[in-house]
Amino acid sequence: MGTGYLDQLKQEAFEVNLEIVRERLVVLTWGNASSFDRAHGIFAIKPSGVSYSLLKWQDMVLVDLDGKVIESKLKPSSDTFTHLEIYKGFNSVGGIVHTHSPWATIWAQACKSIPVIGTTHSDHFKGDVPCLPYLNKDKVESAYEKETGLQIVEFFKKEQIVPNHMPGCLLSGHASFTWGETSQKAFENAVALEACAHMAYHSFKLSHDINFPIYILSKHFTRKHGENAYYGQK
Ligand SMILES: [Zn+2]
Repeated sequence: MGTGYLDQLKQEAFEVNLEIVRERLVVLTWGNASSFDRAHGIFAIKPSGVSYSLLKWQDMVLVDLDGKVIESKLKPSSDTFTHLEIYKGFNSVGGIVHTHSPWATIWAQACKSIPVIGTTHSDHFKGDVPCLPYLNKDKVESAYEKETGLQIVEFFKKEQIVPNHMPGCLLSGHASFTWGETSQKAFENAVALEACAHMAYHSFKLSHDINFPIYILSKHFTRKHGENAYYGQK
């Protein structure tokens, strides 16, 4: 095991990159995770296109907020600039997970937000998980990954959605990004998103007339999050 905060950051990012595979959120190389050290303005992210079975913690690539790679021969994930813009735009985020997990991706491909229709969803996401529109041609052709990150940050600002209350979103025709105060939390939110996407799909198969009360949503979210949270052990 390495020492020092940069090695620790790499190990943290490495662990989460393995967890998303273990949880079957990622097959092949359809995903990536990063851990951010906000005090130093550096994040560790999966290297681009490296098979998960060959990945070592030392392979994690360190990147600063200007997108500069620090001491690595490997190229960082192609989605690095999306992670970077989210870290710059959301100041409480310390970890990001991107996966093409099937159920969340099914909603993204249908360009549909995932409606909140139960307490499982409410425990993690305070409302419908939004699906953002397709990026336009100019943005895709000029700086696709950076524009994707900017789109997420600007959407949340415009809609006045608090990133801590909605730690993830879908991108039309693509898949999901989730985040959290740590990369471990971002991972848990990715697991929750996939489960909620799966359950919502089947609930709507059984009924199109679901009116989940907002007071149950509020109760479930606030008992787990924020100042007055009381769920779990002290
Ligand atoms: Zn992707």
